[in-house]
Amino acid sequence: MDIESIANLLSSPQKIAIVTHTAPDGDAIGASLGLYHFLLGLRHSAKVIVPTAHAHYLQFLPHNEEILIFESEPDEGARLLKDAGVIFALDFNTASRAKGMENLLTQSNAVKIMIDHHLLPDLKVDFALWDIKASSAAELVFRFIEMLGQKKRINHHIANCIYAGICSDTGRFKYNLSANAYRITAFLMEKGADVAKINDALFDNFSEDRLRLLGYCITEKLRIFPEYSTAVIWLSKEDLTRFNYKAGDMEGVVNYPLSITEIKFSVMLKETSEEVRLSFRSKGDFAVNEFAAKHFNGGGHKNAAGGSSGLSLTNTLKQLTELLPAYETELAPTIFAV
Ligand code: 5GP
Ligand code: MN
Repeated sequence: MDIESIANLLSSPQKIAIVTHTAPDGDAIGASLGLYHFLLGLRHSAKVIVPTAHAHYLQFLPHNEEILIFESEPDEGARLLKDAGVIFALDFNTASRAKGMENLLTQSNAVKIMIDHHLLPDLKVDFALWDIKASSAAELVFRFIEMLGQKKRINHHIANCIYAGICSDTGRFKYNLSANAYRITAFLMEKGADVAKINDALFDNFSEDRLRLLGYCITEKLRIFPEYSTAVIWLSKEDLTRFNYKAGDMEGVVNYPLSITEIKFSVMLKETSEEVRLSFRSKGDFAVNEFAAKHFNGGGHKNAAGGSSGLSLTNTLKQLTELLPAYETELAPTIFAV
């Protein structure tokens, strides 16, 4: 389908499900709620469905309480997905990221629209607004609204949500940046986005436990491999329990080691009851999405990716450290210059 057919479809009321990825981050929530507000304005019946709950500090956006958490309400979620005439897939592009909803998503006959900025899409959809150069899915939601010729409908609620997504995925305007992200932000500010408040809500909204967990990661659980310009942080279930871990508490921790001049590659391992989750970050040319895809069943962007391992925490750590020598050339210490 082309954008005209989508515009035509959306010109009459539809039952719409907006689905995003598991362990939703600020972009997933901001993009989804931004689109949700826009669709409600067009008189559609819409619902945001997330596979698992989002962090407490992401619950400040307007109509957050309307979000359905599939893990907690699978029957209602399944009913909404089966009923939907249109399904939006936001901030992901492969069915497995919609944990628990994979089959509902792939087997649905609804018109499917993907709005995403990750590499290697494999979700079959009727329309895709897919751009790996976009800062965030939220930026693409803005572009989608613009493509529909509906920019005038962007009110302060939509502006706040889209700004939250851009701000979150760029780490407060540090990564994945584009001139477009700045242009859109200027427009959103004019429409009433409260950027100072959202910056605080996203980045200065820790619990004491979360800050102490960060301190513990850096003082006790950080290992540096100078010959590979690599840093590794690893946390067991016991470590997490000790700091009353809640969803989102480890968000951003993997970025801290990159603040060391020589570090180019940072990895964080987190043990859960099912698997070990891995987060990868780099600065410069080292493509962590390729590393994640090749060794840890994952993916993402060049400088930010994730993956998982079915091995124990100790064995995952061992596997990771044994892989480093193969990347000796790419990870050799260098002096940064622009
Ligand atoms: P995080 O480390 O914050 O969990 O993820 C960083 C980036 O990698 C995000 O853009 C996320 O979408 C992507 N990512 C995380 N885990 C996975 C995964 O298991 N598979 C794929 N394909 N991408 C992932
Ligand atoms: Mn995103």
